[in-house]
Amino acid sequence: MATTSLILLTAPTTAEELHGPGYAVADPGRPHLRVTDLGATRGDGVFETIGVIDGHVQALTSHLERLAASAELLDLPSPRLEVWRTAVAAAIQGAGAAPELSVKLVLTRGEEGTGRCTGWVRAAPAPDTSRARTEGVRALTLDRGYRSDVAETSPWLLQGAKYTSYAVNMAALRHAHARGADDVIFVSSDGAVLEGPTASVLLRVGDTLVTPGTDQGILPGTTQDRAFRFAERAGLATSARRVEVSELAVAEQVWLCSSVRLCAPVRELDGRELAWDRDLTADLLQWLRTTHD
Ligand code: PLP
Repeated sequence: MATTSLILLTAPTTAEELHGPGYAVADPGRPHLRVTDLGATRGDGVFETIGVIDGHVQALTSHLERLAASAELLDLPSPRLEVWRTAVAAAIQGAGAAPELSVKLVLTRGEEGTGRCTGWVRAAPAPDTSRARTEGVRALTLDRGYRSDVAETSPWLLQGAKYTSYAVNMAALRHAHARGADDVIFVSSDGAVLEGPTASVLLRVGDTLVTPGTDQGILPGTTQDRAFRFAERAGLATSARRVEVSELAVAEQVWLCSSVRLCAPVRELDGRELAWDRDLTADLLQWLRTTHD
């Protein structure tokens, strides 16, 4: 039986001196965060969520590289990736055997005035996402209110970083839930498809798997990246480009992709049924479950 496990990093970045392995096992049932931690008071930090299936951690290197890229966008000190890597392994071992785990890595700017970052890794049994994977989700398109070139024009908005200020993303999900939908596809103020609050958007257009390009102020998705490798194996072309909102209604298939849920077909968009292919979705899911990098 899997449980929750927690690892606290004593040297999460190059700003803290490294003694020993740079982390320690902690009791997940005890309080550990100070009320002056800038992660808590300002949402000033970065994070990653990684899936573990049948004991195999998925796309670990890509997640660690993205953690480092997000930290750089927030001008945080560089994460010590080798410490995070071993801390992830320790957290998974501490959680015990489970069909699926969700592992969350959090790095904050730390306690106010100390100049020391805070970091932890928590592993826990993954929520059951089987219904979304096999039956699909109903999504709403919602305007994010930014143009698609926002990352270039306004880098201080941190679009494209996986930062801990997810209150807006959670508010968008509540907005969708209140209207009977399960999820959201954000669109830019100039009509481009962006991403979900916790997922990348993937479409099948003819014989091509398409995703919005990361030059449009969105997160580079590790699951979408792995889906592109599936496409190459399945004889489909791939393209990362600007996707017009109107393309969603006519695509052969739209999915929301993320590390723990893997891929969920969008079966209804803004109240209109979308086409989707159960066989292709099953093949993609099988690929994502069984390839680990
Ligand atoms: N876009 C956003 C905003 C996300 O929060 C996430 C994941 O949480 C993704 C995309 C998908 O990324 P990944 O597939 O690496 O989990």
